[in-house]
Amino acid sequence: MVEHELPKLVAWVRFPSPAPFRLGKRMKAILKTIKKFFKPEYKKAFLVTIKCHDCEEEVSVRINRSADFQLDYNPKNPKHFYTIKKEIIGKNCYNLMQLEIALTKNTKVLYTNTKSCDFVKFDKE
Ligand SMILES: [Zn+2]
Repeated sequence: MVEHELPKLVAWVRFPSPAPFRLGKRMKAILKTIKKFFKPEYKKAFLVTIKCHDCEEEVSVRINRSADFQLDYNPKNPKHFYTIKKEIIGKNCYNLMQLEIALTKNTKVLYTNTKSCDFVKFDKE
């Protein structure tokens, strides 16, 4: 009995119809678009990448405008509008990396200050 049913099962496992796969990918793309549409804060996230001085690991950290941007006003440098301060520990070692980024009103990087790491990049997510 079992011997008769086995070939059928093997055939099904080996040759799945490709149609559901294509549909799945399309659905994911549609859902992503809908998410973007309903979540405007999605656009307000940034990714900062730094490189550890001890192990050279590159670490990317998400920066949220609402949580991580501090308003700053510096009369000597009126372009300076936001400051971001982060302390980050990577996965490879216990080196505490410190990062400070000064931004303009349009979120352009004015300058960076780092400790135990190198600044690599700051991008919109
Ligand atoms: Zn490290």
